[in-house]
Amino acid sequence: MPYTVLTIDLNDRKISKKGIKKNIQRKFLGGKGIAAYLLFNLTPALTDPLGEENVLILATGPLTGTFFPQNRSCIVSKSPLTHTFCDSYIGGHIGPEIRFAGYDFIVVKGRSDDLSHIQIQDDEVEIKSAQNLKGKGSIETEKNIKKNNKDFKVLCIGPAGEKLVRFASISTDYFRHAGRGGLGAVMGAKNLKAISILGTGGVKIIDEQFFKETERLHKSIRDNPANQARRTLGTVRSVVTSSKNNTLPTRNFRYGTFEKVENISAEKMNKHFWKKRKACFVCPTNCSALGILSSGKRKGTILEGGDYENVGMLGSNLEIDNIDEIIYMNYLCDNLGLDTISTGNIIGFLMECTERNIQNTPVKIKFGDSDKAIDIIQHISNREDFGDALAEGLKNLLQKFPKEAEDFAIQVKGLELPAWEVRSAIGMGLAYATSDRGGCHRRSFPISSEISGKEFDGHRLERFSSEYKAALVKQQQDISSVHYSLIVCGFCTGLIEKNDFLNLTNMATGFDFEDKEFWGVGERIWNLIRLYNVREGFGRAEDTLPNRFFKDPLPSGVGEGNVLKKEDFVYMLDQYYDLRGWDNNGVPTKNKVKNLELEEFMVKIKRNR
Ligand code: SF4
Repeated sequence: MPYTVLTIDLNDRKISKKGIKKNIQRKFLGGKGIAAYLLFNLTPALTDPLGEENVLILATGPLTGTFFPQNRSCIVSKSPLTHTFCDSYIGGHIGPEIRFAGYDFIVVKGRSDDLSHIQIQDDEVEIKSAQNLKGKGSIETEKNIKKNNKDFKVLCIGPAGEKLVRFASISTDYFRHAGRGGLGAVMGAKNLKAISILGTGGVKIIDEQFFKETERLHKSIRDNPANQARRTLGTVRSVVTSSKNNTLPTRNFRYGTFEKVENISAEKMNKHFWKKRKACFVCPTNCSALGILSSGKRKGTILEGGDYENVGMLGSNLEIDNIDEIIYMNYLCDNLGLDTISTGNIIGFLMECTERNIQNTPVKIKFGDSDKAIDIIQHISNREDFGDALAEGLKNLLQKFPKEAEDFAIQVKGLELPAWEVRSAIGMGLAYATSDRGGCHRRSFPISSEISGKEFDGHRLERFSSEYKAALVKQQQDISSVHYSLIVCGFCTGLIEKNDFLNLTNMATGFDFEDKEFWGVGERIWNLIRLYNVREGFGRAEDTLPNRFFKDPLPSGVGEGNVLKKEDFVYMLDQYYDLRGWDNNGVPTKNKVKNLELEEFMVKIKRNR
């Protein structure tokens, strides 16, 4: 079945449908891969991410909307925060609904004159006014759209997206967010407040054996002890272990261990806050939970979540151990439409600037001050006063600071780092430096293998050593590119056998992929995106890390006294480029491009550079 792409041009309000050729589907699989192909072809080099020539792509994968246990969707565009390719994943029910309406990809082009709302009901596509939703939070926006028909699934932005905050998020199902990379600002720049979708169709499966196989997978996931733990305590259960392992950012990534970690643990959250487990479409894991604060200063706050990243970046990284305050900040970010990771990271930076009395700090805030942090969140979302400078993101903010502040601004290519320390598991440094969307932990996550001393390629990994890390990071990035093209949740990948991904994709689509070709697609996608980023001006100089990781030894914990030595980093990066078949500047060589059948993209680079 050819994928269907629905294109909506907000300039001339034209709506069109097109299929994707079978050979392109085979080369790039779906989700991330096909969206990268579309983004490369639909936007010229050096596109302004907030200009009308940028496109917003809603992508599904070949397993989205099926009974495959953990399937989601993603949003792809050029990031206004990093100026790189950006894919941001979102759970809930929006992806399946796109497919039920008869589409696999939705491309939004141009810019509407007034704030608008795209409503899609199967074949009917309408661009409506959203003036009545101007300035509203994402929760109220979704409620308002669902007033007339609660079955619509909604994607929307809060005030931060409307104000073009460069780390604005996109929300769905009230509490699910495509947070990273500022794609909410891309929607805002298009004057697009929301997209609502209702589909009455289904997803065609070619081989009926698929249904039996997916039932088997559901059962095996439900019975898996790792899944049981995630079902009860969500991702936040990793906060205490991460602190023990010296990988939990604390005081703006100065420490890797938080002394008061028990106050922000999953057990605390479970006892004090969560009321009901929640899941994305057909997921047997229920990793999320809905809660309400029933007493105290923030009484009545309702939130689905309180995940590891949010608790790390808004908690330990800011030295805030009051769980109510963390939940309230998390709620505010979600409703106003801000990425929690970037927001926590930027506030941590301001706290350190205040402590060091750094010149030009736009707002003073001490570590642990949650009231002021809340005030900052509100200012950012409205670009009010000092919030205007902060809304530009950490890298842009640095232009106003003395040089010394760069050392403790924890970002890579403009993407503020998430809640995982580098100096106590150094492969993570390479993963951040080479990630395709800036400092991200979701393309390669070597930390767990490094800490457990897992065997890789016949060698035992060691957390402070640079050996074998380049190969590990490359392998994980290539595999994750396949997973993200099927758009399966990152949490299921350890619970499902490698072969099941291949066999079930073949059963769902009718393709006859064999192992080598199927997993080889990951390397092709990774290189296509690298070519896109090279086209946008990225190379070796940008594949680096904040100086803190090279210069400031960890003050305590198992990594006490440790830095990531520059020579170790260079060793890993050189090896990585070598394994990838890239030149010394991190550009894929002609040979590599030819072997991966990506020549047409090489031509475009030559023309545009
Ligand atoms: S594991 Fe969690 S995030 Fe992943 S699909 Fe299931 S409920 Fe959604």
